[in-house]
Amino acid sequence: PIVLGIETSCDETGVGIVRGRALLANAIASSVDEHARFGGVVPEVASRAHLEAIGPTVERALAQANLRLSDIDAVAVTAGPGLAGALLVGVAAAKAYAMGLGVPLYGVNHLAAHVAVDQLEHGPLPKPCVALLVSGGHSSLLLVPDVATEVIELGSTVDDAAGEAFDKVARLLGLPFPGGPHIDRTAAEGSATAIGFPRGKYDDGTLDFSFSGLKTAVARWIEARQAAGESIPVADVAASFQEAVVDVLTRKAVQACERHGVKDLLIGGGVAANSRLRALAEERCAAAGVRLRVPRPGLCTDNGAMVAALGADLIAAGVEPSSLDMPADSSLPITVVHA
Ligand code: ATP
Ligand code: MG
Ligand code: FE
Repeated sequence: PIVLGIETSCDETGVGIVRGRALLANAIASSVDEHARFGGVVPEVASRAHLEAIGPTVERALAQANLRLSDIDAVAVTAGPGLAGALLVGVAAAKAYAMGLGVPLYGVNHLAAHVAVDQLEHGPLPKPCVALLVSGGHSSLLLVPDVATEVIELGSTVDDAAGEAFDKVARLLGLPFPGGPHIDRTAAEGSATAIGFPRGKYDDGTLDFSFSGLKTAVARWIEARQAAGESIPVADVAASFQEAVVDVLTRKAVQACERHGVKDLLIGGGVAANSRLRALAEERCAAAGVRLRVPRPGLCTDNGAMVAALGADLIAAGVEPSSLDMPADSSLPITVVHA
């Protein structure tokens, strides 16, 4: 079936179209520039931008796929988690398209969609696999028996998300929002061993994460240098911070695979675009005999194709469509794949 996927949980208006596991279109409009001067996403600005962008973005996706609205067999939409007002625009639009076209509606979990999207690039997910989900609002290790029906949380951050830590440290370094890609680029010119920043929960025996202590350590380190009238070696701080984050993420991801006897690891979410995370995961998975899958960077950050991909999976699994009065749920738990 041809599935239209709509994503509006944060600042990207994403519309993707898939036929089964074939990606036909992935159109994105972002309001990120409107938020940059506030140093973070402003919810009401995001909602308004989605409202303006949703129609044109659907049109662009259809044009990319060389299809007409009448070719769409099902509509999938992010039901949560995310910004309440932003989600509402996507959910209302998806209902209108589904109702107008007389096709089923599938409300999906944004985080499960970050996992499911890899199938568009690398084929069906092994069952089970372990997924490291690292994004702007979430950082979790998941045991995924079947992404369409069952996601189990093994551990998660007890404070900041990994992407949030990247964004906050970028801000401390005077880099633009969102900071993750800027840290990634700047770190390439620095030394990852220049500064020994703390690794939270490194040896605590859990599959949880903690990044707020690291963020504070970076802030204190910068303040001390500034107080001494010294300049900040931005590239070294970025590289050393990044290394601390990806060291813990990859270590615990491999531990999760070992503890659960799983041979396949998937990394998803915006932070999965990070080049050092990808390289270190590659290295450590090879050493542990774990197969690694990471979607290309453009599919890691928020997009509509990931929603369409999970929608197609739900259809293939025979899951019932959502009701047309399905609510948006800003705090939808990671374990609820389908709303
Ligand atoms: P969630 O998925 O938890 O609801 P979100 O949808 O806002 O949050 P994503 O779009 O999945 O988040 O990811 C955005 C995050 O990814 C931001 O924090 C951004 O800085 C980070 N990010 C993007 N590219 C990179 C990169 N190359 N290196 C590190 N972080 C990155
Ligand atoms: Mg975004
Ligand atoms: Fe996301």
